[in-house]
Amino acid sequence: MNWSPTREHALARLAEFLPAAGTTYAQRRNADDGPSASGRSNVSQLSPWLHAGVLGEAEVLEAVLAQHGPRAAEKFIAEVFWRIYFKGYLEQRPGVWDSYREGRDAALSAMEANAGLRKAYAEATEGRTGIAAFDVWARELAETGYLHNHARMWFASIWIFTLRLDWQLGADFFLRHLLDGDAASNTLSWRWVAGLHTRGKHYLAQADNIARYTAGRAGGPLTADGLAQDAEPLTEPHDHPRGLPDLPPPVTPAELGAPYALLLHDEAAHHAPLAAPLVQAAAPALVIGASRPQARSPGAVGLPARRFTEAAMTGGMAEAAAAFGCPAAVWQPGEPIEPLLAQAGIALLAVPYLPAGWTRDALAPGLAALAEQGRVVFLLGDLDRATWPLAKAGFFGVAKQIDALLGECGIGGG
Ligand SMILES: Cc1cc2nc3c(=O)[nH]c(=O)nc-3n(C[C@H](O)[C@H](O)[C@H](O)COP(=O)(O)OP(=O)(O)OC[C@H]3O[C@@H](n4cnc5c(N)ncnc54)[C@H](O)[C@@H]3O)c2cc1C
Repeated sequence: MNWSPTREHALARLAEFLPAAGTTYAQRRNADDGPSASGRSNVSQLSPWLHAGVLGEAEVLEAVLAQHGPRAAEKFIAEVFWRIYFKGYLEQRPGVWDSYREGRDAALSAMEANAGLRKAYAEATEGRTGIAAFDVWARELAETGYLHNHARMWFASIWIFTLRLDWQLGADFFLRHLLDGDAASNTLSWRWVAGLHTRGKHYLAQADNIARYTAGRAGGPLTADGLAQDAEPLTEPHDHPRGLPDLPPPVTPAELGAPYALLLHDEAAHHAPLAAPLVQAAAPALVIGASRPQARSPGAVGLPARRFTEAAMTGGMAEAAAAFGCPAAVWQPGEPIEPLLAQAGIALLAVPYLPAGWTRDALAPGLAALAEQGRVVFLLGDLDRATWPLAKAGFFGVAKQIDALLGECGIGGG
């Protein structure tokens, strides 16, 4: 699979996958047929570009609806809304992320002090547990930066309930290696498997299910002997209170009347999916790029993920500078951003919304002073603004509104 982090490749993969996004996806999406040089035929593998903001959810939904209509594409559309739902849920409960980080750091410290845990962790992450399927996925993840959704579920379940490792170490392992490493989808999916997201309802991987849905792999079905059969869901001692964040209203071109700089970051690495009319109506006078893959984890980020993230930023900056006819500058980690603005004689900064998680952790502190001075305008897409408030509890609250949301956001002729 060619995950070149350019918008050109993202659009090419979208076009290539479109014919399969309707009933084929509904029927075949659960099969993990293994990596393929030309890309899997049953899932889109668009998530790295979606996560990096090289491709936008709205344009993907628009393209899929244009080809298949709402009913045939129902499953695929719902999956894209799972991504938006998880984002909205974490926005309303950022404490889930804070608690994950604390738990992860505590688990990493506990491991440092315990040789037995270190050995078990090394065996799991290096694919040496003896559970054949799990070992294949551990190596596949480190080598390619991608796992099929079903493999992610099985892997997380085996990690938690059979290997009895801390779920936060598993979530950290994923975040370090996935090209699409997303604080919301990753943390909340691990919690879902563990029985912490839908409390008391966990996911137990079954060997026959794994064999059935991996039958299409080049080496034949994967085996998984000795899986836990009767493990209890995990519990946690505290709730994570909900609060609706203060979402930025739509920005009008008038608000960007003065020369401004556009910040590109790891979840908005390309200008095209941003509120397009806005950015085009008042072109930025400077593009600033800030890539912070190391904010995903205290550990080392895998090479495929780091390369993808950094190259998405380099390419995004170059394409934005060319599109707007302006210079581009890098905001280096640990440096203040103000001098970049001052050198260009610019007061205002337009920032694509910083979602709860590692992207916000990395960038929000360095923007706080500017924001306090009223010099930051946050950009949030209509689909996120409309959907996030509905992500209060389970996915159903969003699922039942999908048609209305598409209509409200003018997607699919709505
Ligand atoms: C334990 C675990 C960890 C995960 N970590 C991440 C992560 O860090 N980043 C991430 O983007 N996804 C994550 N997912 C969700 C999902 O596995 C991936 O989004 C999906 O496999 C990406 O492959 P695709 O693009 O081929 O998906 P497709 O099946 O083609 O779906 C199209 C798009 O819909 C979205 N999507 C599909 N399934 C889901 C889902 N279950 N949850 C949320 N969004 C979904 C993705 O943006 C995806 O690109 C995780 C799932 C699990 C079980």
